[in-house]
Amino acid sequence: MSSIGSNLQEVKRRMATACTGAGRSAQILTSAPPLAAPWAAESSPVALLAVSKTFPAEAVRQAYAAGQQAFGENYVQEALAKIEALAELRQGPAPLQWHLIGPLQSNKTRPVAEAFDWVHSVDRLKVAQRLSEQRPPQLPPLQVCLQVNISQEASKSGFAPAEVLAAAQALAALPRLQLRGLMAIPEPAATLQAQRQPHQALRELLLALNAQGLGLDTLSMGMSADLEAAVAEGATLVRVGTAIFGHR
Ligand SMILES: *Cc1c(COP(=O)(O)O)cnc(C)c1O
Repeated sequence: MSSIGSNLQEVKRRMATACTGAGRSAQILTSAPPLAAPWAAESSPVALLAVSKTFPAEAVRQAYAAGQQAFGENYVQEALAKIEALAELRQGPAPLQWHLIGPLQSNKTRPVAEAFDWVHSVDRLKVAQRLSEQRPPQLPPLQVCLQVNISQEASKSGFAPAEVLAAAQALAALPRLQLRGLMAIPEPAATLQAQRQPHQALRELLLALNAQGLGLDTLSMGMSADLEAAVAEGATLVRVGTAIFGHR
């Protein structure tokens, strides 16, 4: 087995162990499922998103051969080249799924609306409006998450927690987007307990939105270093790069 294949197995084992510890199903999905019932601790499944930024299309192909379907990219130009190089893997019963997780400038929305399945990093309404206008009518709605600056760091993008409800209501009204949930990149922390705190805050924010009727099912949170904390707090999409592909 390739090292990417064994790394994937090890990441899924870590996720499954965390699921079991949290009383969640230990079945790890390899792509993001379609919209389901609003998030609930006992029933929401968790999927692995393999973050392939800076790695070549060949690395994505190896991970796909090992059963992984969902891939996350940060840089639009780099991602578009890989999406094109691997276009044949978009056909068939287990299609590749592409997620944009990096910052998106409003002048780069068109190719994203045309080529991606998901965008996790919506941090301005203007970007959301353009994505909705530019999503081709023959494709399903673009699946999106609102990025939240959950640790309230000056250097990080994302809506402040207090802005999220109004932003979510505005996004939910856009016709060619399907608002699925919230995404965050918390400040690194050393202990499991400290890592859990921002993930818990994101989950509570999602529950507050659902209490207003938004019906969201997705918590995009957790990376190589803190995936156990994220899964314990209810992550449904865990974005893992280094532990699968190696150091960048
Ligand atoms: C790079 C990146 C990841 C993956 O981080 P690792 O520490 O390599 O697992 C996850 N989310 C976002 C937004 C990223 O930019």
